[in-house]
Amino acid sequence: MFKKELLFWNVDTQFDFMSELGKLYVSGSEEILPLLKRLTSLAKENCIQVVNTADYHFPDSKELSDTPDFINTFPPHCMADSLGANYMAETQPEEPQVIPWDKVYSIEEIKKLTSFRNLVVLKDVFDVFEGNPNTQRLVKSLAPQKVFVYGVTTNVCVDSAVCGLAEQNIQVFVIEDAIKELPNIPLPFEKWDALGVKRIQFDDIDTYL
Ligand SMILES: [Zn+2]
Repeated sequence: MFKKELLFWNVDTQFDFMSELGKLYVSGSEEILPLLKRLTSLAKENCIQVVNTADYHFPDSKELSDTPDFINTFPPHCMADSLGANYMAETQPEEPQVIPWDKVYSIEEIKKLTSFRNLVVLKDVFDVFEGNPNTQRLVKSLAPQKVFVYGVTTNVCVDSAVCGLAEQNIQVFVIEDAIKELPNIPLPFEKWDALGVKRIQFDDIDTYL
């Protein structure tokens, strides 16, 4: 029932990053909201599964600091059970199956999860493969050939997701006009090119579906 070879990967499109009222607002990120909405609809219309990743921190998280350097440490954001951890309306997953980072799922449980269209993977660090012990096995079980990545931020969590996926022999596409970066951190484009990651525009996505 799903297009098993395709997977959309929605990175951290949460209130604290994307709203001007958010705790770690990424300047200009609201500009990509219309395309995020279209990606959410496109996945639904085409029965494409979506892995939605989400920062979900407790106060002792190692990336949080009261004196943040905005490179390795950041002020408290996307705190567990806070409104700031919610997705923006444009990417709100329908009937989400939430996979917390503090529980290790069995292979059978992971298999069961992959029968749902929207999976939400919570994480406590930038890298979703490091920050949730279930991510690797979830991707293996979904076994996509092509993954389309979008969200925030280009040079932190999008970068970790893109590299983690590309290293598993999956063709990774980044929707260039549906990502947004943080200032003062180098951009990862050369590294992505070296990994064979394709950067495409939203308008061209039909060519690859
Ligand atoms: Zn975070």
